[in-house]
Amino acid sequence: MTFPTLEHARQLDQEDPLRQYREQFRITGHRLIYLDGNSLGRLPENAPGDIADTVEQAWGNRLIRSWNEGWYIRSYSLGNSIAAITGASEGEVVISDATSVNLYKLAAAALKRQQGRKKIITDNLNFPSDIYILQGLVEQLGSGHELVVLESRDGMTIQTGQLGEAIDDDTALVSLSHVVFKSAFMYDMKAVTELAHRKGAMVLWDLSHSVGAVPVDLNGAAADLAVGCTYKYLNGGPGAPAFLYVRKDLQEQLHSPIWGWFGELSPFEFGLDYRPGKGISRFLTGTPPIISMVPVERTLQMLAEAGMDQVRRKSMDQLAFLETLAEVTLYGLGFSMGSPSDRDRRGSHLSLRHPEAFRISQALADPETGTYQVIPDFREPDNIRLGISPLYTTYEEIFLAVQEMQMIVQKELHLNFREERGAVT
Ligand SMILES: *Cc1c(COP(=O)(O)O)cnc(C)c1O
Repeated sequence: MTFPTLEHARQLDQEDPLRQYREQFRITGHRLIYLDGNSLGRLPENAPGDIADTVEQAWGNRLIRSWNEGWYIRSYSLGNSIAAITGASEGEVVISDATSVNLYKLAAAALKRQQGRKKIITDNLNFPSDIYILQGLVEQLGSGHELVVLESRDGMTIQTGQLGEAIDDDTALVSLSHVVFKSAFMYDMKAVTELAHRKGAMVLWDLSHSVGAVPVDLNGAAADLAVGCTYKYLNGGPGAPAFLYVRKDLQEQLHSPIWGWFGELSPFEFGLDYRPGKGISRFLTGTPPIISMVPVERTLQMLAEAGMDQVRRKSMDQLAFLETLAEVTLYGLGFSMGSPSDRDRRGSHLSLRHPEAFRISQALADPETGTYQVIPDFREPDNIRLGISPLYTTYEEIFLAVQEMQMIVQKELHLNFREERGAVT
């Protein structure tokens, strides 16, 4: 690619086959550039109305009758829509709880099935909550499980060979993020799953940074278990409930460690002895958060219509555009690449590293500094994460964000900011 200009960026936006989706999201402030859709996706333009309908009509007018008018099956129908964009089959995905809770349920279920095997494998690129959940589980089970945390050699990737060496006949479970949150490294799901299966180990994938951003083929990879979040690329809003996937043939062999009534065979019989529900239903816990489930539906419709291959193509093109700009304008200013160089092995964000990353990200987000207000996110110790949400990110935004970064560092405007971190970074 030749060095891109602003005109070039605008041209690419005009030719973008997904350009009609941007207007389906709330875009405020023409000087605000949002590159953090991988932490909290934008508000779908129809979401406030959809939520109001659920509150006013379904709750306000129909009251408890709404459970039989769509609420009860919503966890399953939305789960099927997620199945459709992750290569799973109907009845293999359901909406439930938070990602952390789903990871707990599925990891516990897997360890129970894998009795006798003591090793759990993860890596130090994984999201801390996932590691905490596994640490807690080892402690609670008290049956001599060992959590092995593989160390990345370059801080960005894990070689498949490292997993190959670690997975053995004592391995019960391998639990990994498909796309890791900091560097965006993406595992080869099929290769890793095969490796684990050869030794009789199960694999639990966290799809939080994959779903809605990269094509995922759970069935094609013969994946056992997966969890993921709906407020990143699925734009479900803060605290939107997560999802979980259990391959069909495993569903009757596994049991949730939390025997809630929504996972019972027939909750409204109110029997006093728990019987696990049929199929995926046994992994539900309590009453699903109906209102919080509403917004995600719009994005799932858009993704189904656009097709994940098209979404991936745009994401890859935009990442290449961003990378070219960064190479030319930023690498001379102390920035370096914090994501793997192999483009096929990363998700939909790019991490740029800089010793002053925190203060630069403060300066970027400050409305008084520079021409644009750019919101990326900062990840310790020195990563500025730039998220591409193909449904709404434009080439122009990427161009201007890089230009702003260059200007801030050249003029040392970040030196006006303090090092103190807020509660949420
Ligand atoms: C965002 C994210 C989560 C979120 O977990 P919650 O329990 O839903 O807050 C979990 N795992 C990964 C890898 C994530 O990126």
